[in-house]
This record gives sequence, structure tokens and C-alpha cells, in this order.
Amino acid sequence: MSVRYVAVVGAGAAGLTAALRAAEGGARVTLLNAHPRIGLKILMSGGTRCNVTHRQVSERDFHGGSRAVVRRILAAFTPEQTLRWFADLGVELKLEETGKYFPVTDDAQTVLDALLGTCERAGVEFQAGRRVVRLERCACAEAEPAGGGGAGGRGRGARGGGGGAGRGAGAAGAATAGGRTDLAPRWRLGIEHIRDSAALGAAVAAPGRTEWPLPPREPDEWLEADAVVLASGGLSFPRTGSDGTGYAMALALGHTLVPPVPALTPLMSDDPLCARAQGVTLEAELTLRAAGERVAQVRGSLLFAHFGYTGPAALDLSRHWHRWEGSARHVVANFAPDWRREKLDRAWVDSAVRDRHARVGQWLNELVPSRIGDLLCAQVGVARDGLSSQVPREVRRRLLDALTARDLHVSGTLGYEKAEVTAGGVTLAEVDPSTLESRKARGVYLCGEMLDVEGRLGGFNFQWSWSSGTVAGRAAGR
Ligand SMILES: Cc1cc2nc3c(=O)[nH]c(=O)nc-3n(C[C@H](O)[C@H](O)[C@H](O)COP(=O)(O)OP(=O)(O)OC[C@H]3O[C@@H](n4cnc5c(N)ncnc54)[C@H](O)[C@@H]3O)c2cc1C
Repeated sequence: MSVRYVAVVGAGAAGLTAALRAAEGGARVTLLNAHPRIGLKILMSGGTRCNVTHRQVSERDFHGGSRAVVRRILAAFTPEQTLRWFADLGVELKLEETGKYFPVTDDAQTVLDALLGTCERAGVEFQAGRRVVRLERCACAEAEPAGGGGAGGRGRGARGGGGGAGRGAGAAGAATAGGRTDLAPRWRLGIEHIRDSAALGAAVAAPGRTEWPLPPREPDEWLEADAVVLASGGLSFPRTGSDGTGYAMALALGHTLVPPVPALTPLMSDDPLCARAQGVTLEAELTLRAAGERVAQVRGSLLFAHFGYTGPAALDLSRHWHRWEGSARHVVANFAPDWRREKLDRAWVDSAVRDRHARVGQWLNELVPSRIGDLLCAQVGVARDGLSSQVPREVRRRLLDALTARDLHVSGTLGYEKAEVTAGGVTLAEVDPSTLESRKARGVYLCGEMLDVEGRLGGFNFQWSWSSGTVAGRAAGR
């Protein structure tokens, strides 16, 4: 039986998975990675502990494209299968109270080593420091006897192995050798050798940009393949190599992008509260108002930082902030998220009646950390050690406003440089939901963050990488 050659572009979580699945299916697989170091995002994930997946994953944990497609991909490789897979790889996982799974070693290196080891044993050939800058239909496919296993030109494709054996470039164009139309298209990839990783991601993309020209760089070598998996990620942490080249190639094939924007990135603010409360964490509900409407609301832990706000609530809101670019936007926080303002007002009055000696600070301590209580009191001019029964109604209401509907004065986000993920990407309508094969270019498969899918915080983005990488890799290797 003839061998099928598969090139996988990008050795992140999705690309490593896709390469493994294609190799398990019997294909010869070359895995190309722009950055000379493989798996950087895995190593930095989960505070370097790598939150591999979550106890409960459903399509509702994701934003972007079609929920039906996300459900289908997750069903093809479920979180339960992920847990068994990692157990087989020798990575023991532990479940934390939050529902997140981490390796028991608390070290992302354990996860990366297991993935690299299993890929190597399956025969995947790694080529690091190889950035794919062109993806073209190969015109030089040779006819082979009908029923010969699919793609033509066996034995002459898909290698540039060991950084050298790549075939010379042929003319671009659709390959229908000998007039046959039943041949799967074959592909050639133009590769740039990356000698200085400092050049990667030097220019950070503007949020919402949808046009990506191919890099002006001429390839140093070419590689041919029967099938190609594009797993080149989004735009977050561009210095790891995910800088938009993957999008450029998808666009050149005829794909369209849902405007990519940074997601799971911290919020910036010059509110003096941030500097004063730096390091404090509390549970909060954040509401984004745009053009006078409430457009998004999230609840979770909020951490004050010198530049603004981070923690799950701030990170989860960031995608919405960018989606409303161009409108007047305000982020408003309720620091006592179990309460609404009117109920709190009644509770204050009741407690003051019950205990005439109750102090404002005492009452606030029940709701928020003392540092926040102090700062809010200072903001509205209430003495923290004053009697709550003696605070004038107007002042009390101002304090309750500051507590439940405080404008956080958000001015922007830390963008792709600090984004854990990219929202938007190649639209799901342009891939076959059972194989993730491109509807624009047969023989090209897409997976991972480059598609218009991103999960909330908690291991969902890696689950998407494992599931979509499995689907694309299996189909590419068949
Ligand atoms: C700081 C941080 C912490 C995170 N923590 C978690 C977590 O704990 N849990 C979780 O679920 N998710 C987490 N994420 C998100 C998760 O890491 C990503 O969703 C996931 O890694 C995406 O995988 P990917 O393979 O699609 O893309 P990437 O990991 O971005 O990999 C893409 C790869 O492709 C290469 N590449 C790009 N263009 C080309 C090209 N033209 N040619 C060749 N190679 C190319 C890049 O060098 C890169 O190695 C975190 C992300 C960050 C940044």
C-alpha cells in the first residue's frame, strides 16, 4: 500500500495532536514549527502548570462559530478520552476544586514531554525553526493507476526531511495529472528557515484585522505533501510564532476570517483604585455597557493590578470589549455580586435599626476585603469607623453605588501580547464539520486556535486543541 504524506504546520497543542493522529493512521508526517522551540504555549499555560482540560466541557463553554460544529468535534474526542489518553501517556492528572485538571507534577513540562515522546515513537518527523510562508496546489502530481490509494506521485512528495530533502518547486496550479479528476490535490509548502527567533511576531497585529498578505519572503526550500494540516494558532503571544502567517495562507486559499481579536487578556485602567488596591482579589460581577446597552456580563474572581484588572472575570470580559470596538464602552463592577443595590440599601437600614452602634467598616467587611472597603469609603467621603445609622441617606447611596455599580474606567486591554487566546479566525462554515477539511481546498485541514472557536478560562482551549487536532489529523492521515 502506498504511503500518504502529511505536513502539519504548527507544533502547538493542536498540531502535535494532529501529527500524532495522522501518524497513528499510517501516514508519514512532517511537523513544521516556526519557532525553534516547540510547545512554548504549553509550557507557559496554566501558570506553567498546564490546565489540560475541565471536568465538564460542552459547546456552551465556547465562543465563536457554530455550537453544533463545536459539539460534534468535542464528541469525536471527548474530555473522558482526553483523560484516558494522558493516562496512557503516563501523565497522571489531578482534578482541582475549580473543575480544572492539571498534571500531578504541577509542571507543564510533563505534558509537553509526553506529547513529544509519543509523536517521536509514532515516527513524526519534527522540523523546528521552519516557518511555512507559502501553501500552493502542486502541479507536478503524476498520474498513478486508478485505485492506487488516492493522491498521485507516491514516493516523491511530502518530505523535505531532516531539513534538506525537499523537492524543487514546480509550477503552481491545480493538479489533474493525465486529465484525471479523481486525484486528491497535492500540495507544496514554501518554507523559510528561522535562524533568529527574535524576528518572530515583531509586529503585533491590530485587533479586528482581516487582511493578511503572505510574507514577502521567498522560501528557502519546498516540501510536497498529499495532505496538509494548518495548526498555526491565532495571534496571541505572537513571539511564540503565531503571527498571522497561518491566516495569510488560509486567506490565499479562499477562506474568510471572522475578525480576530484578543481574548482572555487583562483590562487596562488608570483608575487610582488599581494602584491602591494592587494585589487584592475579590469576587465581582462585571458588566460591559456599549452604546448605552448592557452587552455582556461575567462573574468571577477579579484581581487589581498596577496596570488595571486581571483574574478570570477581567480576562473573560476582554473578548467582548474588543467586539464592541468603535462604541462608547464602560465596564461597571458589582463588588458584592450576590446583592443588588436596592436590597443592600434595605439591609443597611435594617442592620442600623437592629444595632445602633454598628460601624460602617464592620458592615462593609461582610461584603468586600477591608482594603477595598477603605478605598470606597475614601472615595465617597464616609468615615469607615463612623456609625452606619448616622450616615446621611445620600452619602449611603453613593457608597452603595460605588459598591455595586462602580465604573472601572477601563481604557483598553493588554492585547495579543498578553492574550491567552484569539477570538475569531477561519469561519467554521468553510470546513467540513466531520473532518475539518477545508471546503475551499481539498486536502487541507484546519484545527486549533486558528479556527473561529475559543473557550472560556479553565482548560477548554486545550480541550478544543486535543479534539480538533484529533479530527483533522485522523482525516488527513487516511
Ligand atoms: C499564557 C497562556 C496560558 C494559557 N493557559 C491555558 C491553560 O492552562 N489551559 C488551556 O486550555 N488553554 C490555555 N491557553 C490557551 C492555549 O495555550 C491555546 O489555546 C492553545 O495552545 C492553542 O493551540 P494551537 O496549537 O492551536 O496554537 P499555538 O499553541 O499557538 O501553536 C501554533 C504553533 O504554530 C507555529 N506556527 C505559526 N505559524 C506558523 C507557520 N507559518 N509555519 C510553521 N509554524 C507556524 C507557532 O510557532 C506555534 O508553535 C493559554 C495560553 C497562553 C498564551
